[in-house]
Amino acid sequence: MASPRPWEVGDGTVKAFVPDRQFLQDYKQGRISLVQYRSRWESDQRLGGFDIRPGYLLATLADGSTVPVTDQDTLCCSCSVDTARAHACHRVWTALELQRAGWEIQGDWEDRNPFFEL
Ligand SMILES: [Zn+2]
Repeated sequence: MASPRPWEVGDGTVKAFVPDRQFLQDYKQGRISLVQYRSRWESDQRLGGFDIRPGYLLATLADGSTVPVTDQDTLCCSCSVDTARAHACHRVWTALELQRAGWEIQGDWEDRNPFFEL
């Protein structure tokens, strides 16, 4: 999981982990705390009913079709690596959920991770 590098445009979204836009804006504009934002994100993710186990997690492409997320895929968000290192980013929270579901995760916020060096 990573913050997108300049040349990465993405193939689609993983709806199971996309935060509610209004709630994200409320957090970024200081109307709610990080704890409130995370709590809402976790609640939405659970209530969404998505199956995030390996083999079942889906990405939605630009044309609306879905494809399975597979080994070696990179999930990105727009937060910086420093934000992820502070655990103030939902890709870190997503990683925890994915690990619980059986995925092996390598995050760009982890120290000395050769997969994400530029
Ligand atoms: Zn993020």
